[in-house]
Amino acid sequence: MTSSFWAGIEKRFRAFDLESIRNKILLFAVLATLLPSGITALFSYIQNRRALRARINQELLSASSQSAREMDVWLKERLQELRTLAGSYEVSETLDPSRRAGPAARGRLNEYLRSVRGRLLEYSELLVLDAAGRTIATTAREARPVPLPADWSSSLRSDNRLVGDAYWDTPSRGAQLILAVPVQRLDGRLLGAFAARVQLSGVQQQLANLTSGTEIRIELAKDDGSIMVSSSGITAELMSSRLQPEAVERLSQNEGATTSFQTAAGDAIGVLRRIPRVPWLVVAELPAAAAFREIGRFRNIALGVVMALLVVASVIAYRLGLVIVRPLERLTQGAAEVAAGDLAVGLPAGGGGEVGYLTYVFNHMVSRLRENRKELDGRNAILEKQNEELERLSTTDSLTGLVNRRQLGRRLSEEVTRSRRNKRPLAVIMADVDHFKSYNDTHGHPAGDQALKRVAEILRDSIREVDCAARYGGEEFCVLLPETAGDSAVQVAERIRKRVAAADFGGRHLTLSIGIAEFAKNGDAAPETVVAAADAALYQAKRAGRDRVIRAK
Ligand code: GH3
Ligand code: MG
Ligand code: MG
Repeated sequence: MTSSFWAGIEKRFRAFDLESIRNKILLFAVLATLLPSGITALFSYIQNRRALRARINQELLSASSQSAREMDVWLKERLQELRTLAGSYEVSETLDPSRRAGPAARGRLNEYLRSVRGRLLEYSELLVLDAAGRTIATTAREARPVPLPADWSSSLRSDNRLVGDAYWDTPSRGAQLILAVPVQRLDGRLLGAFAARVQLSGVQQQLANLTSGTEIRIELAKDDGSIMVSSSGITAELMSSRLQPEAVERLSQNEGATTSFQTAAGDAIGVLRRIPRVPWLVVAELPAAAAFREIGRFRNIALGVVMALLVVASVIAYRLGLVIVRPLERLTQGAAEVAAGDLAVGLPAGGGGEVGYLTYVFNHMVSRLRENRKELDGRNAILEKQNEELERLSTTDSLTGLVNRRQLGRRLSEEVTRSRRNKRPLAVIMADVDHFKSYNDTHGHPAGDQALKRVAEILRDSIREVDCAARYGGEEFCVLLPETAGDSAVQVAERIRKRVAAADFGGRHLTLSIGIAEFAKNGDAAPETVVAAADAALYQAKRAGRDRVIRAK
């Protein structure tokens, strides 16, 4: 992942505005996925959690009640066994002082204990005590002191049994428990006790069996919390440890029900039950982490499914957004092009649906616009032509095709400006047909027109492209000669005069009188003054006898 990738993501995120259709679709898809799937996942998570809690409660309740019952039964069986053994003749014979038992009786008692112990392997030692607590007989090779409580004889008398403390037996490396039952005469007098050291490994095994396959732990402890046996095993260290007093108190308050409490290892839930007639209790417990691990796993799966759905829905919505938005973007682009005056736009047919129809309408509209523009262009062309014609008509003389007087005025001022700017010469020729009135009178007006046309042709043929020949009025003509000094203008005028004089006007002849004037090189004379000078020269030519060229002084 490069930084530009993340920059791109961030930019996209910032650019997320709800005006855009694509983003609206995306948001809708996210909400439409998130709400139902999230609510479903939440409900099933809650349901699952409740079911799991119920199951854990059930397991803890049944483990605790079963273990309490089994411990009760186990203890009853051991005491019953001891009572049966204590009822034997060898025991009372040896203990009863009135019998005055000798060494032979003791030997028989030892023999008896050893044979019984051979069958009952749970007992590590069987022994018989006299009323003073002295060991009379034992299965052990050498007698060891028995850890009896101070009030052992009175509790034997009142409870008909004695349940001692569990302790760690270092020589046998195992947990043991002292149990004793009274040995009494028929009249009820206490003769002594039949006692046993019982191994707790069998009890441990029972607890381990109860919890096998689960993470539940069962502890058998005394009232004060000191641990006797745990389903997880027995060690000297364990036996010297205790359940935490606050935990025992909390559990005791809710005896027989599941309760949350604190252990050294963390939070736990458990059930405490007392065992009848002995100061013992069992605690079945489960670490909270283990109990709710499954819930955590389910939550992760639910979240994973919701996230996956979200991703799939987002991708689909994004693609859908593109499908919808792309033709719209094309339409927008097309409309912008049309607005900018480009009517060559043609969008690909957008398929069906609203956008497809819109595209069809758009294309139709653009083609209509194109047709209208074509028609307009046609009309414009015609108008332009007509304008050109009007322009030509307004600037030319209809009879001779030369420029008219108005247009001559425009050309004259242009040429004057140019010649002044460039300091170049400019000459003006004024020509008038001689005795034209009588020509008209003699040959008729139409013949006069024809003659004027012919004169115009000669004028046109005698000048350059840059020169300008105009009909000044009636049978009078004017020629502008740019870049032409007076001498050259005289030559041009002479050429014109000669050509007209030599021309054949339907068997008749005509002549021209011509006046010439030129603009002074550095002068700033008004155009009218120069034209008037040429005109004056023309009348001078008339007075001097016509058919001649006179240059103004
Ligand atoms: P001059 O030598 O002094 O110029 O004599 P002129 O007869 O030519 O001069 P005048 O001004 O007396 O007569 C000009 C004549 O030109 C009068 C008119 O009938 C004729 N004319 C002017 N325009 C036209 C035209 O368009 N067609 C025809 N056929 N004649 C025209
Ligand atoms: Mg005239
Ligand atoms: Mg004339």
